[in-house]
Amino acid sequence: MKTKYLQFNDKDLTAAGELIRQGELVAFPTETVYGLGANAFNVNAVKNSYSAKGRPSDNPLIVHVYDKSQIYDIAREVSSDAEKIIDSLLPASLTIVLPKRDVIDDCITAGLDTVAIRMPLSVQARKFLRYANVPVTAPSANLSGRPSPTTWQRVAEDLDGRIAAVLCGQPCGVGIESTVLDLSRDEPLILRPGIVTPQEIQSVLHKKVTVVTDPKAIVNSPGVRYKHYAPRVPMALDVSGDADKLARYYDELTRKGYNPVLLVEHPEAFGGRNVRLIGRADEEVARSLFENLRVLETQFDYIIASFSSKTQFAESILNRLTRSAGHNII
Ligand code: AMP
Ligand code: MG
Repeated sequence: MKTKYLQFNDKDLTAAGELIRQGELVAFPTETVYGLGANAFNVNAVKNSYSAKGRPSDNPLIVHVYDKSQIYDIAREVSSDAEKIIDSLLPASLTIVLPKRDVIDDCITAGLDTVAIRMPLSVQARKFLRYANVPVTAPSANLSGRPSPTTWQRVAEDLDGRIAAVLCGQPCGVGIESTVLDLSRDEPLILRPGIVTPQEIQSVLHKKVTVVTDPKAIVNSPGVRYKHYAPRVPMALDVSGDADKLARYYDELTRKGYNPVLLVEHPEAFGGRNVRLIGRADEEVARSLFENLRVLETQFDYIIASFSSKTQFAESILNRLTRSAGHNII
């Protein structure tokens, strides 16, 4: 199939909305990463989005909306906690999990009786969703397992010829996926950390919010099990920031014949070696993380990342880095 590259003007947005309603796949920008959109009310379209990405069918999708009223069309129950979050935090880089209505097919939720819903902060994303005028399922617009795309060019790299259209919007400002908050049970649970921190959620709910640290133990967020965000070359992760240790690890790899690169917070400490800045502030690290991995995998044959920030937001970056490195922590 020939993929169309569409712009943010009325004519192209109308075409994008029409494609979605007809059951075609359209990639679009959000503030977190680019999403691969399908009409949530069209089972074939949703199933095609799994196959275009090569995504396992037991990894549920997030349904995207542009208006808060749409949440009530797809969620069967909106608890008072959920109402508080909807009223005071949305739109945001935050996904909420609620009991689902029957209009949401099992293929979206991988058979769960809950549905994940997000109203993105990105004005471009909500504009596209408004033109689509149906709820839109959207996993990240990459081949399954690869680092998520934060520019339309990266979407093209993975999905050109496999989907109907790409909406060419801005690069993503946040750079990592939304926080996933399960509000379908008595106790609020963060299933995936993101830029919206437990503290922010707690300050709205006035109750303890538990962060699930071992998602493998949780049956109800299957997707967190899978290999994810991985570059094409081996990767190691250090969380101490110890420059001597990193230099030793690098030198050992070069002795073994590798051409490695250090992706670190303080590049000035590694004279003579291949080295790149991972970012000065957490926000910058997140924004450029997946793009860094996609660039470095083409230039080097081993990535050694180091990230030692200990803020609440840093937790979400560490979560992605750990999985990119396939849990190879040094
Ligand atoms: P992605 O589309 O790759 O950002 O992944 C979406 C993630 O949201 C999934 O991998 C799950 O971890 C989570 N998710 C989606 N739907 C549900 C649900 N009904 N219950 C719990 N977690 C969900
Ligand atoms: Mg993804």
